[in-house]
Amino acid sequence: MISKVLIANRGEIALRIQRACREMGIKTVAVHSTADADAMHVRLADEAVCIGPPSARDSYLNVAAILSAATITGADAIHPGYGFLSENAEFAETVEEHGLAFIGPTAEHIRTMGDKITAKTTMRALGVPLVPGSDGALPDLQAAREVAEQVGYPVLIKAAAGGGGRGMKVAQTADDIEEAWSVARAEARAAFGNDEVYLEKYMNRPRHIELQILGDAHGNVVHFGERDCSLQRRHQKLLEEAGSPALTDAEREEIGRTATEALSRMGYRNAGTLEFLYQDGQFCFIEMNTRLQVEHPVTEMVCNVDLVREQIRIASGEPLGYTQADVRMSGHAIECRINAEDPETFMPSPGTIKVLHAPGGLGVRMDSAIYAGYRIPPYYDSMIAKLIVHAPTRAEAIARMQRALDECVVDGVKTVIPLHQKILADPSFQKGDYTIHWLENFVAAQRAGK
Ligand code: ADP
Repeated sequence: MISKVLIANRGEIALRIQRACREMGIKTVAVHSTADADAMHVRLADEAVCIGPPSARDSYLNVAAILSAATITGADAIHPGYGFLSENAEFAETVEEHGLAFIGPTAEHIRTMGDKITAKTTMRALGVPLVPGSDGALPDLQAAREVAEQVGYPVLIKAAAGGGGRGMKVAQTADDIEEAWSVARAEARAAFGNDEVYLEKYMNRPRHIELQILGDAHGNVVHFGERDCSLQRRHQKLLEEAGSPALTDAEREEIGRTATEALSRMGYRNAGTLEFLYQDGQFCFIEMNTRLQVEHPVTEMVCNVDLVREQIRIASGEPLGYTQADVRMSGHAIECRINAEDPETFMPSPGTIKVLHAPGGLGVRMDSAIYAGYRIPPYYDSMIAKLIVHAPTRAEAIARMQRALDECVVDGVKTVIPLHQKILADPSFQKGDYTIHWLENFVAAQRAGK
């Protein structure tokens, strides 16, 4: 069994992992940049090691410094959290070469799924339905034009190495394809150092539905139902729910079976998420994330499971110990990402938190690493907290989230709480009637109405 985990991350997710470790009797090592010396994940860990200056490249992405910290402290496993090195196959490989357990999938699976083209080819071969599009990378603009004519406009040019919504451009008609092609490639080259692109039909009103999976090292794979993450701005999720207001039990069962069969044939180990666009009753695979996701708590609430604990047990070589039939979903959960941003312009709002009051009460969970007096450093992500609620029905979960947001006080910086309040009060949201394009339109309408 793993006895000491180095957590190669910061913020709420570092704390989230520490909490699971502590409950399992596992020691924790925090790593931090000089900008995070006063951070909560540093204060609450058993040990902490400074690994570099503020810039993530020199600290949270500094593999040599992280491995030295693990060696010095005698950690026997590394949990990468999300972001940073979590989907870096070389990092996973290096960790294992150093005799430590990587709390995640194999380097090979991270690599396969990290390239969206190989991910799609692999999933297609395993019987998972895809978004119609090019058969692999596009060699040139002419090929892009030909595939676009076949699948029909609008189309999306996407970076093979894409992530975080970057390197993705829509061509509404044949007139736009040349520009979409060159902008997507330039963005991909700048962001990922790889300008390989592929093409997909641009779906006009899909929902983003993703399936949470766990696999152990003994060939057992189960799923924990879906999350609906359609509420996005610039392809970034803002509010997530489990389950999706759009799915029937039969649809959930069917996509769950397809996904678990595919991953069990792959021999997938640890936590993973299959992302789909869902429209007119059809699921189309877009990508797989080979790590814990920001929005994992909504699944934890409805399935009554600690996904981080499961990840650690799996990395220790333990079998899951349960089957699909044992996974029960109960009630409804919603997560609001609380970003330190202006709720209208979305400009980051770093600064010092003067007053903090975290909401509480039945079915309310706040995952965060902020405290009163905490200075939000300008170097990292703007997400400062996740507010999660769980209730017997979706309507009750909405009411509970509205109440929890009302109670929440974060003074000193701007946050997107007022935007969440508006979303939750909107009749279409309340009916569950939304697609991936809903939030952009909602935000534009709010601004126009001012
Ligand atoms: P990233 O890895 O950059 O997050 P994804 O492939 O996961 O990229 O896509 C992010 C989001 O972009 C999706 O959740 C969806 O909202 C939108 N998107 C991706 N592919 C398509 C498509 N073919 N049609 C319409 N929207 C899409």
